Amino acid sequence: MAEVNVSLGERSYTIYIGNALLSNYVENLPHKLNQQLLIITNPTISQYYLKPLLNTLSGHQIEIFEMRDGEQFKSLDSYAEAMDILINAGFNRDCGIIALGGGVVGDLAGFVASTFQRGVDSYQIPTTLLSQVDSSVGGKTAVNHPQGKNLIGTFYQPKSVVIDIDCLQTLTERDYRSGLAEIVKYGVIYDADFFQWLERHTAELNQQDPATLTYAIQRSCEIKAEVVALDEREKGLRALLNLGHTFGHAIEAATEYGAWTHGEAVAAGIIIASKLSEVTQRLNSSDFRRIKDLLLALGLPTKGPQMPWQDWLDYMQRDKKVKDGQLHFVLPVAIGQAEVVSTIEHDTVAAVITECC
Ligand code: NAD
Ligand code: MG
Repeated sequence: MAEVNVSLGERSYTIYIGNALLSNYVENLPHKLNQQLLIITNPTISQYYLKPLLNTLSGHQIEIFEMRDGEQFKSLDSYAEAMDILINAGFNRDCGIIALGGGVVGDLAGFVASTFQRGVDSYQIPTTLLSQVDSSVGGKTAVNHPQGKNLIGTFYQPKSVVIDIDCLQTLTERDYRSGLAEIVKYGVIYDADFFQWLERHTAELNQQDPATLTYAIQRSCEIKAEVVALDEREKGLRALLNLGHTFGHAIEAATEYGAWTHGEAVAAGIIIASKLSEVTQRLNSSDFRRIKDLLLALGLPTKGPQMPWQDWLDYMQRDKKVKDGQLHFVLPVAIGQAEVVSTIEHDTVAAVITECC
């Protein structure tokens, strides 16, 4: 089992990564679990993983909230349902919330934990690759509003993150590849050696080789942990984790969070950002090529959908990353290095989008 620490003073916690961790959940935790526990999951996930988890939790008062499966249920309605369960069960401030699922379940469960009784213990058991390398780590919690994604949320760190890579075996191919996009992102923004390691291990990643996956997840969590420890509330460095996301969120919003998975949209977004960086002479052409080739080798989209420039602009301006009405872009300036740039003319952005879609 690999361990990664997230150093945030008294809010520090450990991420555990390995095989068969779910069926030994309680045994592996260094901390005691609360007597009252709400497990938030959904039917797609619970059919495989709820029983193994419950088997390790004897003696606790357990409530289960099986929310419906889908991004559209990361909503205030689902949040209210979870609150009803907690209140009707008489749960108190010493209870804990366990997220058993992907980023949708994890973001909602974290938000519930951060607000019930002004904050109770939160535990993440991420079951998608994307949630294992990204959403379960770092403490961003959220629900969506009809006007936009993640508009309502908090920063709230979990007490632990347990990543059982065996859970990935039941994931769809598309959701698996979606997680690979975020893994590539870490290499592009932060770690040239890791990027090169990914280039050399595309075959193993495509075959879901366990040892390769464990390292890819561990390194991704280390990078996220390092960035979050330096900039928990996204005043600067943490913004680099949004590489590809301004464009990606526009794609997701325009296609109503259905046709594209988050990771697919991020992959297309990384290409647009990289091309923008190349066109404005920040990134050299061979590095652009390497980024595109790696995404292609991992079966990810490298072209976005076609839509009018005005739509792109509207969606991008609605994104949380807009400051002072100006669009900010995270641009890779070399493999392993990125910057936030806010001085690019709209015409240039529009031309690059046309070229990449
Ligand atoms: P998801 O939670 O919707 O999961 C994708 C699909 O896989 C769902 O149908 C789910 O039911 C299913 N699933 C989950 N685990 C499974 C398993 N082991 N086997 C079979 N099926 C399984 O999507 P996601 O990609 O995990 O997460 C996307 C969400 O994460 C978005 O809402 C995004 O905003 C959020 N996110 C948050 C952060 C953050 O820092 N908090 C970072 C990145 C993304
Ligand atoms: Mg993301």
